[in-house]
Amino acid sequence: MSWLTKSWQALARSLEAAHRRLRDRLRPDIRVHMVTERPTQLRPHRLYVTRQADGPAFGFLLCPCGCGETLHLRFFGERRPRWQVRHDARGRASVTPSVWRQAGCRSHFILTSGRVRWC
Ligand SMILES: [Zn+2]
Repeated sequence: MSWLTKSWQALARSLEAAHRRLRDRLRPDIRVHMVTERPTQLRPHRLYVTRQADGPAFGFLLCPCGCGETLHLRFFGERRPRWQVRHDARGRASVTPSVWRQAGCRSHFILTSGRVRWC
């Protein structure tokens, strides 16, 4: 591989990384929206949360990678996986532990104060 090709590839990689960082910074925060049932149409940057008597039940979120899949999170019971959801005064969502899709895009991320941090 020529010196020029290697340099070009290194430049392309660093531009891609810079683009990813900028895109993540400009992306709106993910906020909690309480709903009575799962919406038929999900909008990006929203974590829809249904309730049951003693707290949050399920969460629905468009995968933040942009693949278009809906992520289903369960916030109650003993079965795993099970997550905890919180939001701050501005509605920005935090979910623990990390979310890791085992199929499709295999996205793995932590959602903290409405921001996605890729793992
Ligand atoms: Zn995805």
